[in-house]
Amino acid sequence: MEIGTSAAARGADDWIERVRASSDIVEVVSQTVSLKRVGRNWVGLCPFHQEKTPSFSVHPERQFFHCFSCKAGGDVFKFVQESEKLGFLEAAELLSRRAGIAIPERRAGERGTRTPLLEALDAASTLFEQWLGDPERGRAARDYLEGRGLSREIIREFRLGLALPGWENLAQRLHDRFAEDVLIQAGLVARRDSSRGGLYDRFRHRLMVPLIAPGGPTLGFGARALAAEDQPKYLNSPETPVYHKGSFLFALEQARRHTDPDGEMILVEGYFDTIALHQSGIRNVVATSGTALTGEQVKMLKRMVARVALTFDGDQAGQDAMMRSLGLLLAEGFDVAVVDLPSGEDPDTLVRRGGANAWHGVRRRAADPVEFVQRHGLRAAKGGDARERALQLVVRLATGVRDPVRRQVLLERASNVFDFSMAVLTRAVEVRGAGSHAAPPSGAPARETRTGEGHLEREFLQAVLSAPHAFEGMRHDLSPEDFRDPSCLELARRLWSETPGAGGDVAVVLERELMATAREGTEWERVLEAGARRLIRRRLERQYKAAQQRILQLQRQGLTTDPETVRLLQESQNLARSISELNR
Ligand SMILES: [Zn+2]
Repeated sequence: MEIGTSAAARGADDWIERVRASSDIVEVVSQTVSLKRVGRNWVGLCPFHQEKTPSFSVHPERQFFHCFSCKAGGDVFKFVQESEKLGFLEAAELLSRRAGIAIPERRAGERGTRTPLLEALDAASTLFEQWLGDPERGRAARDYLEGRGLSREIIREFRLGLALPGWENLAQRLHDRFAEDVLIQAGLVARRDSSRGGLYDRFRHRLMVPLIAPGGPTLGFGARALAAEDQPKYLNSPETPVYHKGSFLFALEQARRHTDPDGEMILVEGYFDTIALHQSGIRNVVATSGTALTGEQVKMLKRMVARVALTFDGDQAGQDAMMRSLGLLLAEGFDVAVVDLPSGEDPDTLVRRGGANAWHGVRRRAADPVEFVQRHGLRAAKGGDARERALQLVVRLATGVRDPVRRQVLLERASNVFDFSMAVLTRAVEVRGAGSHAAPPSGAPARETRTGEGHLEREFLQAVLSAPHAFEGMRHDLSPEDFRDPSCLELARRLWSETPGAGGDVAVVLERELMATAREGTEWERVLEAGARRLIRRRLERQYKAAQQRILQLQRQGLTTDPETVRLLQESQNLARSISELNR
């Protein structure tokens, strides 16, 4: 089928109407609500509020629903959006699948790529599941999962699987059904460097955790090494046309049915933490893909819950990320609780030993944001007055809160907890707010203005983190020595290192910060390319300057025809040529 842009748009409109026509609202609603016929309409107990006498009715002729008590109402799409906690397109896709109607390609630029990628990812997920179930080849991995206390039911629900050892298991099974480019773009395989070409599996001998979006499609994988010597321990799918880690929340598909608009979502860090909590019966749990919370993720949560419980494991690097997440969530009007985990525990170990009650225990002792700052801001010894620093952190958080009532409540709490003048706190927020002109928009946390070299280096590293696949192609054109800013240098060492997880706290903190402040929709490949050119040019200019200075020195000493001088003249000519080529 040939599709032009306008035809594609028309096709999408047709598709919505076709889905609407084949989705009878009474039939759809009656799958979750028990309905009784009353005259022309159907009535039942409203699924959107608690009630004992039915005030919820569905009108088959006009194809809409309405609740007289809570005023919920709308068409079949709206019903699925509200009851399944989905966006409009996701709801349409769900109804489309249910009605057996093919989902058209919609997004410009992703036209023609999305569906094959999702099909390839689903096929891979199915194979991984089969391999895990294989009596022989899957045994060790199953034993491992059993050792972690995971039941068969939860393994099936999360579609856990196994990537076999070896380089081509997946590539061989899928290459007949999917184009090479599709498999590469889906992040499942990579092309061999050697001239004979061919594909090899990205995931080998790993436990596979599919990254499932609401509605069921698999967008990518998180993969845990099964052999201790395999590094890194966790390997994620790269960013692909369907998987953007900054806008993905793990287990949202499983959690969304267990949330309500006034309720809470628990946010943890690891996939297995999430799965363990779900298995223990605590179902309102999601995780980020090992990154700090982003503005997009916060918006997704906003559609579902009013409160977020963050978990904190006490490590110094995590404290910074926690403050950032707190800032984003408070700015968006969430109630936030911070759950302190006992030292050495994570949610997985916690519920494995103590079940859901162990979680409820730590949840009850959770801190509000001000208490969190007090508990941990005071502990961090970075010099200066600890109480003052903690108060400054609270002021910073409060400045981001746009709702004046919420801001006031936060400050009153701080005034009590720190026994500090409310008037001064209010004034501090005013001053800070005026200094930054406006509260930072969500998704773009307040950032110190940086100019010049530091800015260039940070932006480039952000692009490296956001488009790792594109970075691989230029890894050898640059090196950590190209970075001047001390924290950028440390993060660069980490990113260029062959040892995963290399680098100290400074690198970890900067990485999380850069991930958190990466703007969605940026063309990272371009930023990478432009940044690499500027970094290389800067290096060449430095070398040129150094060569010129040395030449000058030698000439002052009368060594104008000295071999060293001649060599340096030649070198600086070459450098000048390279620089002018880069400037073109
Ligand atoms: Zn209602």
